[in-house]
Amino acid sequence: MVKILAIANQKGGVGKTTTGINLAASLAIAGKRTLLVDLDPQGNTTMGSGVDKRILRYTVYHALLGEQSITDVRITATAGKYDLIPANQDLAGAEVEMVSLAQRETRLKVALQTVKDDYDFILMDCPPALNLLTLNGLCAAQAVMIPMQCEYFALEGLSDLVNTIKRVRANFNPTLKIEGLLRTMFDPRNVLAKQVSDQLQQHFGDKVYRTVIPRNIRLAEAPGFGVPALFHDKFSKGAQAYLALAKEIMEAAA
Ligand code: ADP
Ligand code: MG
Repeated sequence: MVKILAIANQKGGVGKTTTGINLAASLAIAGKRTLLVDLDPQGNTTMGSGVDKRILRYTVYHALLGEQSITDVRITATAGKYDLIPANQDLAGAEVEMVSLAQRETRLKVALQTVKDDYDFILMDCPPALNLLTLNGLCAAQAVMIPMQCEYFALEGLSDLVNTIKRVRANFNPTLKIEGLLRTMFDPRNVLAKQVSDQLQQHFGDKVYRTVIPRNIRLAEAPGFGVPALFHDKFSKGAQAYLALAKEIMEAAA
């Protein structure tokens, strides 16, 4: 059975894209058939997978608008053994163009139907907003992974996201779950980070992934080479943390 996860947090810079790329690469290296969907017009997931977003003929935009089948949009990541539904700036217009279309919230879900049985895991990297693109991710997902930095305002943004998830449950996707909260860019020497982390565990208990992603320069460097950290410095703390996260997720899905 395929596991379909939306990686979402309306805050930018919390590690969604880094998580998408590195988790996809880690699942793939463990032999899992993995698809990564870029839902952000910035196309960072696409570039970070070694694919030049500027020369793409078709992107997720064309699949959402129903202009191309998802199989025609799908490519193989240049680095890493996972498949990719790429995105670029074209996607910025999709929001407006989709407003007039029927079932605009579930277009990705419908598009993925034809390929979902090809995979063990489908990960969707959502943009930093609670917009129609993120809604498409949440409607297509079985569960949500929420990357967050352990800082003071982290919890505040969380309630907006949780409310959106409730709304999606009520209207489109009754079985949508919160798969887990992922602590990213973690610095154990930072007292505040530790306090927020403790708070998260008190509030959300086992919804917090055991694996913590440390702040690690290799994770930030790798996209510049168009590769997941695994192919940049396999033994770095960052690459190892995402391998551990993949293991945790595979165990939970088993
Ligand atoms: P988002 O997709 O939520 O906007 P990104 O994954 O793009 O966040 O991360 C924001 C920035 O932080 C990027 O420059 C990225 O390389 C860097 N970054 C992400 N995770 C880490 C980490 N664990 N350690 C160091 N830098 C990181
Ligand atoms: Mg991003």
